[in-house]
Amino acid sequence: MSDPFAAQYDPAAIEPALYAAWREAGLFHARAEGATDPYVVMMPPPNVTSVLHVGHGLNNTVQDVLVRFERMRGRTTLWLPGTDHAGIATQNVVERVLAKEGHTRFDLGREAFVEKVWAHVKATGGSILEQLAAIGASCDWERTYFTLDPGLSTAVREVFVRLHEKGLIYRGHYIINWCPRCLTALSNEEAEKEEVPGKIWHLRYPLADGSGHVTVATTRPETMLGDTAVAVHPKDERYRKLIGRRLRLPIVDREISIVADDAIDPAFGSGAVKVTPAHDPTDFEIGKRHGLMSIDVMTPEARMAETVPEALRGLDRFEARKRVVQRFEELGLLAKVEEHTHAVGHCYRCHTVVEPRLSEQWFVRMAPLAKPALAAYREGRLRFIPERRGDEYAQWMEGIRDWCISRQLWWGHRIPVWYCDACGKTHVSRTDLVSCPCGAPLRQDEDVLDTWFSSWLVPFSSLGWPERTADLATFYPGTVLVTAPEILFFWVARMVMAGCEFMGDIPFSTVYLHGTVRDTQHRKMSKSLGNGIDPLEVVERYGADALRYTLVAGMSVGTDVILDPKDLESTFAAGRNFANKLWNAGRFILTNLDGPTRRLAGGPGALRQEELTLADRWIIARCDATIREATEAYERFRLNDAAAAVYRFLWSDLADWYIELIKPRLYGEAPGGDVARAVALKTFDVALRLLHPIMPFVTEALWQRIPGRPDGAWLASAGWPRPDARAAAPDALRRFGLVQELVGAVRAIRAEYDVQPGKAVRVVVQHPGADAAAACRAEEATIRRLAKISEVSWGEGGESVGGYAVLADGTGVFVPLGDAIDVARECERLGAEIARLQQLVLGQERKLANEQFVARAPAEVVGKEREKLATWREQVTALQEKRGRLGC
Ligand SMILES: [Zn+2]
Ligand SMILES: [Zn+2]
Repeated sequence: MSDPFAAQYDPAAIEPALYAAWREAGLFHARAEGATDPYVVMMPPPNVTSVLHVGHGLNNTVQDVLVRFERMRGRTTLWLPGTDHAGIATQNVVERVLAKEGHTRFDLGREAFVEKVWAHVKATGGSILEQLAAIGASCDWERTYFTLDPGLSTAVREVFVRLHEKGLIYRGHYIINWCPRCLTALSNEEAEKEEVPGKIWHLRYPLADGSGHVTVATTRPETMLGDTAVAVHPKDERYRKLIGRRLRLPIVDREISIVADDAIDPAFGSGAVKVTPAHDPTDFEIGKRHGLMSIDVMTPEARMAETVPEALRGLDRFEARKRVVQRFEELGLLAKVEEHTHAVGHCYRCHTVVEPRLSEQWFVRMAPLAKPALAAYREGRLRFIPERRGDEYAQWMEGIRDWCISRQLWWGHRIPVWYCDACGKTHVSRTDLVSCPCGAPLRQDEDVLDTWFSSWLVPFSSLGWPERTADLATFYPGTVLVTAPEILFFWVARMVMAGCEFMGDIPFSTVYLHGTVRDTQHRKMSKSLGNGIDPLEVVERYGADALRYTLVAGMSVGTDVILDPKDLESTFAAGRNFANKLWNAGRFILTNLDGPTRRLAGGPGALRQEELTLADRWIIARCDATIREATEAYERFRLNDAAAAVYRFLWSDLADWYIELIKPRLYGEAPGGDVARAVALKTFDVALRLLHPIMPFVTEALWQRIPGRPDGAWLASAGWPRPDARAAAPDALRRFGLVQELVGAVRAIRAEYDVQPGKAVRVVVQHPGADAAAACRAEEATIRRLAKISEVSWGEGGESVGGYAVLADGTGVFVPLGDAIDVARECERLGAEIARLQQLVLGQERKLANEQFVARAPAEVVGKEREKLATWREQVTALQEKRGRLGC
């Protein structure tokens, strides 16, 4: 970088150009040949039409931090980006566009509609990946995939055919989750359970012979129109003699039987259960056991179908619910209504209440696939961070249900199954079929596969599978998967199963589930709540480094990240200020390198010990400790700890202390300028490396100005610092700690007694410990300069007016104040302040003695008032002691 060193850090002027340069240099591309110890991360593919939100920002920052860390450690890193065709989501987007023009997809027809979706995807899709460049994501763009790419589509077919051949894919009539708005089946995971207030209606069904009735309870009374039985437990004494008797179903006026089934819990409700095989999975099973009819009472749009009495036909299910209840009431058959909160499935794409519906769908038999995936976890080959997530994974695997994979959509991988209407044969094929061996034309299944049926394959399909490519051989299995907990079952668990089944090995060994970004009220950020943060706006205003630092510093393992969308300024201030502080420190060090500078071949240890001052040894030891601390934190996914360690070193140790200390040496006012320059440069270089994974831009911009780098070298691929045993200097850490303490103590006393900034004070060091004595002698000039001290003397001093502090090793620090402040005026000021506080104490004591107040006010308020009183009393005591020290 030859441009002048700007006085202010301006991220907008630096970030895009640096990113382009990294890309140009090919730093993000992983080559399969000659790869060393590959570190592979699969990016959770965002939906192709989605827009970057702060959740992506967090997820991709975490991945980038890990990848940059390992890249600097010399491993061949592959961070593989891609986008998901997102069946329902993308189809919904285009359908909404059509609706504005007054059309539906059916007006266009399948082919034209799919073409329109492709056009939409090509025009707007994938920009989310470009947006990731703005936050510095160092993914391998040469390998970007889309789940509908030809290669990945081949993999999808291969997997479908193989599973079908193994008997693990089947087609059948089952109750599935149906979205009446998207008009498609959903998997269990796609039907998100949400607690909603509802009711339980207790309905009476009269016996056909008029001799009484049976009461059943339901949360969805409209489904009674499709009841084909009432079931009771065979041993339930209350119903024993009713088994086999007939009931007359109200409204519908149809006779149904009372059947006995072991699955009924006699203790639940009345012990009698209505059976609606077409609208409930449990009832469907009961229906199969008893050969009951399934009557579908709803259309795909969840309106009442032709199968219900005429007066109710065409009504929306919720309107029908009202009418059915009303009718039961009129008939005197409504026994009871209870309020009840229950978990109801909602479509994960459009939030419509899902309807359990009987339909013919394709399923994957999951239990055999789950077995090795569960074993990988049980045997410790697959680990979760935080660990408790592993239990959730195991529970889900143990209770796994078959996966409904067909979707009644047009956008996606069409199911590779062809039917012959002439001979009735079904063909499952890797290639498109036109005609049946019997000669008749074939018709392909109309449905497409669940989006996750392609994304569960990406750890190998994105590397060329089913071909045996060099990429696949080198980069499978991968290393870490970083994701939000929401897609643990949708995606993570299924990828493990697919890896075991098709590659014979799990696709990654560590799953790191980070928290969710929430607002200050702990609500998830969402468009509908209007509480989102646009990461690109943050980048524009404060820089990508500020965004990344804030996200990383605010997260710890297993917790959420809280940000305030209403106050971006203070939310991202820490990150921006840190970048500025770093820039200023770097600017100072790098522009003060004129004059003799020692080359530090082999690190700080190469300098001769006797040339180093206490401060030099201290900063070198602190630097080394920070290498150890940060490295371990990165390795353990404690990214916030890594951020904190480097922050402390850069901000406090290096910028606030060391740079201040060496100024006289750098300016030639004290000897050892060459050593100071060398040490400052070396430790600053190390700090830039340690911080680079979190704040890649500002660190690279500064590192590019470090003299003596090889041509074309980048911090992004520079080596990771190694700790050096020779740097350890416990005595220096201890002694310099005392220097810091002493300066801090004198500064505090100066502030406490309001000593004018320009006024020098005297310091008397009393009965110092051995370390304190050595430290004060070694760094006396520093101490005097930093705390504005005119003279350091030793002994008792004989004075009594002044401030006093005791250091950690017992050394006393006395600051005589008689000549530094106007003692008489200070005494007067303190006296007035004490009097004011005493008035407050009196008033408060009276208030709390008032029994009425104490009895009536909330306990919390009374508690706060008591606290106030205690604080005021303490302040009075402290001020009185201070007066004592001044001899007032
Ligand atoms: Zn939906
Ligand atoms: Zn045929």
